[in-house]
Amino acid sequence: MSRLYATAEQCERWYMAECCRCGRRRHKAASWPDGYVCRTCSDRAVRIRGVCPGCGADRALPGRRPSDSAAICTTCAGFTQSFACARCGFEDTLRAGRLCARCTLADRLAELLDDGTGRIRPELVPLADCLLAMDNPRSGLTWVTIHKDQDGSAGDLLRRLGRGQIDLTHEAFHALQPWRAAAHLRELLMACGVLPTLDKQICSFERWLVGHLAGIENPELTPLVRRFATWEVLPRLRASAEKNPITPAGRRYAGDQVKHATAFLRWLDEHDLTLATCRQGDIDAWHVEHNEHARQAVRAFLLWCTASKLTRRFRLPAATTSRAAPLPQHQRLALLGHVLTGRDLPLQPRVAAAIVLLYAQPLSRIVRLTVEDVIHDGDQVFLRLGEPPSPVPGPVADLLLDWIANRTNMNTATNHASRWLFPGRRAGQPMNPDALAALVNDLGIPTIAGRAAAIRQHVLEMPAPVVADALGYHQVTTARLATQAGGTWSHYAPGDHTRSPMWRSFPSTSGAGGSVG
Ligand SMILES: [Zn+2]
Ligand SMILES: [Zn+2]
Ligand SMILES: [Zn+2]
Repeated sequence: MSRLYATAEQCERWYMAECCRCGRRRHKAASWPDGYVCRTCSDRAVRIRGVCPGCGADRALPGRRPSDSAAICTTCAGFTQSFACARCGFEDTLRAGRLCARCTLADRLAELLDDGTGRIRPELVPLADCLLAMDNPRSGLTWVTIHKDQDGSAGDLLRRLGRGQIDLTHEAFHALQPWRAAAHLRELLMACGVLPTLDKQICSFERWLVGHLAGIENPELTPLVRRFATWEVLPRLRASAEKNPITPAGRRYAGDQVKHATAFLRWLDEHDLTLATCRQGDIDAWHVEHNEHARQAVRAFLLWCTASKLTRRFRLPAATTSRAAPLPQHQRLALLGHVLTGRDLPLQPRVAAAIVLLYAQPLSRIVRLTVEDVIHDGDQVFLRLGEPPSPVPGPVADLLLDWIANRTNMNTATNHASRWLFPGRRAGQPMNPDALAALVNDLGIPTIAGRAAAIRQHVLEMPAPVVADALGYHQVTTARLATQAGGTWSHYAPGDHTRSPMWRSFPSTSGAGGSVG
């Protein structure tokens, strides 16, 4: 931009002034009834909305009432300038053509998603609607404008989608680069129903697999790794996703199985062996050379090879599992007290930690809870983890309801109506359980040990089948824990076991029952 002044002094005189809102010496953005304003203050003032105390109209309130500096509308303040959008009349910081952010975004989307006939590709209309409905169209505008014409920018991907150069299938999205921009777009397409909903972790696994297969140095190994991933690992992930969403840990483990299968084939190759020529002695040698994690991760591959008759039959060492030692009961109650009384601690991890410590829920399941799973029945609050829903003791209920009223991550695109108890930053997604675990650990709560302690206490106090139903656990797991904890089901007489004595020993801060309206 060229400026029409001769000297620095002229520039200072013509273009600079003290801003009447922030007091800094800045470029004059506008002259308002109360003085010159800078760009920052002008943009901020136009975004203040509410009922004008002067005339009662609900609109933008960039003006200042001289008597008390209350925010008032442009009419009451006597502005000569209007902020009304030339198309829809909404008052906003206006862009080219005197349009508001939403109308600008609408134009930009219409141009990007044009299928070549001058209108949005019909399949993509729900995507445009969904983006235009977001609370803050400015963030949508930034998203479609950033790195404007670069390959792989949001704008570029949208334009290729509009012209049909990218198929509206998950397969097409697996191969798209850069994957982060493509993954966000794919989540939006799933959130608005253009693409069928797929498990997010399976998407991530499939995308990773494309890169992994391409990176195998010896091309002779690739077909076998692909076969194993496609016919063994993926079907198992898909079957598991039908019951429960895949956790990031489950996704990582699937990747490890493929990586270790590849490494195993490489090891054979280095030892001048093939699957067909490999003998029990070689399998044993491999196990001696590798650690427990590698042995566990390669197990599925070796079993699959045997079942598919790619190798002869092998004896594999028995799988072992290690578990975190549970916390002693008194320590668990002390941690619960810390979570409930720590009012200066962030609310979100406090709520998650309380659910872990009370109900022995893994964070991967906690992030799948919705606000509908928190049930009010008179004065009592229940949490639906299984059937029947579990009663929530008073202080925890207060914490839970406080959180529901103040959830974070509610302002991003398509998330404003999120029903997740812990909404994530990405469209339509709950929070990442690893991210939540990190926050809970920051409070000093060990999630795995805390969980083991809670479930062990439950199975000591209630029959294992009742715990299994109420907390959504598999009965075999609870029965095993009952045995480990020194109790068996037969120790319990039939009758009402739904009230655990744990509620009585609970460190109450506001008495029994909740203050639920
Ligand atoms: Zn200012
Ligand atoms: Zn007014
Ligand atoms: Zn408009």
